[in-house]
This record gives sequence, structure tokens and C-alpha cells, in this order.
Amino acid sequence: MDRPTRREFLKTGALAGLGALGGDLLGARATLAGEVPRLASAGLAAPVVIASRNGLRATERAMELLEAGSDSLEAVVAGVNIVEGDPEDRGVGYGGLPNALGVVQLDASVMHGPTRGAGAVAALEGFKHPSRVAMAVMQYTDHVLLVGEGAKRFALEMGFKEENILTDSARRRWLDWRAGLSPDDDYLTPEQSEEGVSGFGLLDAWEGRRRYGTINCCAVDAAGNLSGVTTTSGLSFKVPGRVGDSPIIGAGLYVDNDVGAVGSTGRGEAAIKSCGSMLIVERMRHGLAPVDACLEALRRIVRFTVEKRLLDEDGHPNFNVNFYAVNKRGEHGAAAIWSGSRYAVYDSKGNRLEDSAYLLERAS
Ligand code: ASP
Repeated sequence: MDRPTRREFLKTGALAGLGALGGDLLGARATLAGEVPRLASAGLAAPVVIASRNGLRATERAMELLEAGSDSLEAVVAGVNIVEGDPEDRGVGYGGLPNALGVVQLDASVMHGPTRGAGAVAALEGFKHPSRVAMAVMQYTDHVLLVGEGAKRFALEMGFKEENILTDSARRRWLDWRAGLSPDDDYLTPEQSEEGVSGFGLLDAWEGRRRYGTINCCAVDAAGNLSGVTTTSGLSFKVPGRVGDSPIIGAGLYVDNDVGAVGSTGRGEAAIKSCGSMLIVERMRHGLAPVDACLEALRRIVRFTVEKRLLDEDGHPNFNVNFYAVNKRGEHGAAAIWSGSRYAVYDSKGNRLEDSAYLLERAS
């Protein structure tokens, strides 16, 4: 008797696997044993773009480009470029708050679903649009992530223009933060100064506690192709060289063209340790709605948070993490650990902010 060829064997395995997975899934490409399932995009009427709360201008621009026939990655990157270039957004690109030494270090990543491409930069200094440099890493190198000096060298080689991206207001906030670090150093706060004016007096309560701030933007076009981008100046006044989740594929961003696109904002260390975006894509692959998949990843983060310094008096995380998800069918959702978060969405109903789901209600 003829023994089955390896190809036939793989085919049988794949079909058996798919049988068990239910009708929600397309994916009868029976070529690999145990091939991962795909979501059907049938029924998607129009493109859908989602973003973090600060992303209404990004979703607007991305939708405009998608409707004009643009590629989904070009659309979302052009969208976030508006926020990267805005000196008033202190968590992203130009105007972002610097690290502990007063130097702005930017992180960004992109993923292009149709080509399975990914590119990222971390701790990049001197460029307003790290998302564009991340895109160049994807397009012009065989690598995924370039950091620090190497990322800068690459950006210069590719013709990106080096600029001073530390705005005066970001610099003054950094000076204020530094003056308030210790009563024993030689930098004076207004309270310590004889004149009462030495500090710049710019920090509000939130900034006194350090700041997170990032933009994530993901899109699915009318053909069901997905892309995403996450870009940030990261945690304000961070340890020089600290890299957050934004440039880490699977943490701050994950796109699988068979399933969906996910990004995150908030405490990057938590998104990295949970591989949050990747986890959410996997849960959507196996049938969870985007919002439920986001909530599941957040529950895991809450469960993993055991360090006393990260817990409030009730034993809950004293930080927030947001996830944003859109699947291949254009269904979208977002969730945060704490109530009060919103996200931007542009779909057939227009461009707007929607409430994110949450796990814990903030006492008002
Ligand atoms: N996730 C970013 C980071 O940890 C910051 C943020 O989203 O606000 O660098």
C-alpha cells in the first residue's frame, strides 16, 4: 500500500483542525497542518479607522486617504503624522516630554497586514516623525527594530531631517520636574527660592505624577486589509534609554491580516509583560469580539500586577492601560483598566469619540 505523502498528511491534519473550529472562520486553505484560522471579511461595507483618544484628526485623515484608494499603512501613518507634528501634544513626536536628562527619545512601530511587514524604532532622538522612520525600517531593511544611535544614523541615511524636537514648554516642564526631585539638590523650586520664582511653575498635578501619552491608529480598508501604527515620546522624564511598549511588536501593536489590528497606550511595561496586543489578536482569531478580547488582556494585566509600588490602597493597579482593536470585519472596540477612557473611531457612522469599556470604576 502507498504511504501518504507528507503533503497529503498535512492536508488531512489541517482539515481536521478546521472542522473543530466552527462556522465563524474562513480558511479552508488546507496546506499546512493546524493552520491558524482566519476571520472572514465578507460584509465589510466601508473602511474603519480607530485610534487612541488624541487621534480624531488621525482617523479623519486616514479615512480621507482610504476613501481615495490609499494603502492602509500609508493612511494610518499620514494620520498620526499630524499628531506627531503638533507641539501641543506632549506625549508624541515634536513637543513630547523629554527623558530624565531633558532629551526627547521617541518610540514607534508600524505593521502592514497585506505584506506581513513590520518596522520599529526606539529611543530615537531628533526626528519629528518616528513612525516614518519605522516605516522605512520595514521597507528598506531586513530588520524589524533599530534603536538609539543606530536608528538615528539610519534615519539620516534615509534622508530624514534632524531637528530640535524639544519645545520650550516641554523643556520648562522638565526643569520643573527636576527641581522638584529632591530637597537636597541644588535646583530650587519656587518654595525653596528666596524670590519664590526660580521654578517655572508649569507642572500641573497630573504632570507632577509623570505622564504617559501616545497615539495608536489602526485601520481596515474596504478589501479587509489591515495596518497599524503606534508612536510616542513615552513616559515623561523616563530613564534614558527606557523603551516602552509602542515599538515592541506584539505589545504596543500587533496586526494579523487574517484577523485584526490592535494597539495600546498607557503603562508600557504592563503591555510588554502581557504581550497584550498579540494576545488580543489571538483571542479575536478564536472568536472573541474586539472589546471582550481587550478586556481579557486587561484582566491578565491586573492579575499579573503584584508589586506593592504598583497597587493602590484597594490592591488595584495604580496605573492605566488602554487597548484598541479592530477586526477584519470592521468590528471595533477599546477597553481600559480604569473607567473614563475614550477612543476615536471613523466608520460608516462618521468620525467620533466613543467610550472605552473598563474593568474598574474610578471613584469620582
Ligand atoms: N505606552 C507608552 C509607553 O509606555 C506611553 C503611553 O502610551 O502613554 O511608553
